[in-house]
Amino acid sequence: MDDPDLKIIDMHMHVGLLGDQWPDWGHFSDWYRRQIVYKLFLFYSRIDEKKVSDLYLRDMTIKTIDSCSLNKVVCLALDPVYDTTGRRRTDLSNVWVDNDFIVKELKKILPEKVLLGASVHPYDPQFLDRIKKYVDEEAVLIKWLPSAQMIDLAEEKTRDAMLSLATIGHNGKPLPLLLHIGPEFAIPTTDQRTGSYDYLTWSWSDKLINSMRGRKRWHRPKTHKIHENLKAGLDEGLIIIFAHAGLPYFSSGIPGRFLEHSDFETVEKYLDLTKKGVFKGKCYTDISAFCTPFRYKFFSKVKKLPPELLLFGSDFPTPAFELSADLNELINDFKAVLKGQLYRIVVPEDNLLDVNYRELEKAFPGHPMFTNFSKLI
Ligand SMILES: [Zn+2]
Repeated sequence: MDDPDLKIIDMHMHVGLLGDQWPDWGHFSDWYRRQIVYKLFLFYSRIDEKKVSDLYLRDMTIKTIDSCSLNKVVCLALDPVYDTTGRRRTDLSNVWVDNDFIVKELKKILPEKVLLGASVHPYDPQFLDRIKKYVDEEAVLIKWLPSAQMIDLAEEKTRDAMLSLATIGHNGKPLPLLLHIGPEFAIPTTDQRTGSYDYLTWSWSDKLINSMRGRKRWHRPKTHKIHENLKAGLDEGLIIIFAHAGLPYFSSGIPGRFLEHSDFETVEKYLDLTKKGVFKGKCYTDISAFCTPFRYKFFSKVKKLPPELLLFGSDFPTPAFELSADLNELINDFKAVLKGQLYRIVVPEDNLLDVNYRELEKAFPGHPMFTNFSKLI
């Protein structure tokens, strides 16, 4: 790195709490704790399921961040669901974690390395006050996961929240909105109908798959209104970071296009418009949760995106793989793991944040994505 002020920042790390020690700071639902994905995350974080407690989770999170070679890590909070009447509904959230856990524990213990990725729900009547509070606490972004948090991007309240985010931040810089889009597997919603809230498009195959869901049918997203709202925010100066470039997690190639939703082309379009200076604001995308044999096939597409608009992250504890190993073997092992054969997991020996960095550095040598976030904040 030429410029010593530029730091390598992992801008997408999840943290979680059970709620035994700090019930006001987070929870995993009982249903969630029975899911494979939860067990998988613990396994990859090298956490013994029987020992899970808030103090243990905090200590393991600190250990992971402290021992990694990166300069800084953004730890993401996740506000619980707020219903359309503005009531906080932890009962409707499979996973939530409070901003104060990151401010009062993680940041306090590792002030040099931990950055606050705050989460404030746009339906919360206190949205503005809370955003200001976390700007004062040096939040570097705001995280929304629309399906799990039940945030409809087409809603008027969401639009208002985006307009506010365009004007609030440090030294006149707006606070970026890290928006999850595309398929979501890590944190399922408690209301299946909101599965579509992460989608920016609704294709004929989405329609077809939805018609087969019967009574568990998803809401049809109001895509026209969603883009109107996003553009309204961008015209005011909003900074949006689309997570995972909107790409599918498992599938690639032609069958993948059919089986799993993709918003990649939409993200590509927004980045292109940003490059052309169409908006007052800007769109970026992160390539977190990319260090997998499934997404490896998308690397060539990602290399064609404007380099200055890409951001590096891990999506820890989403598995990171040593991609230099045999890809087919990795895929077969991981498929077996998803079917419950957890013993087939091969967790890389090193710190997983470092594995993710090292593998992406190998695939994208010298790419500005690793320091772009440091320029953004
Ligand atoms: Zn994530």
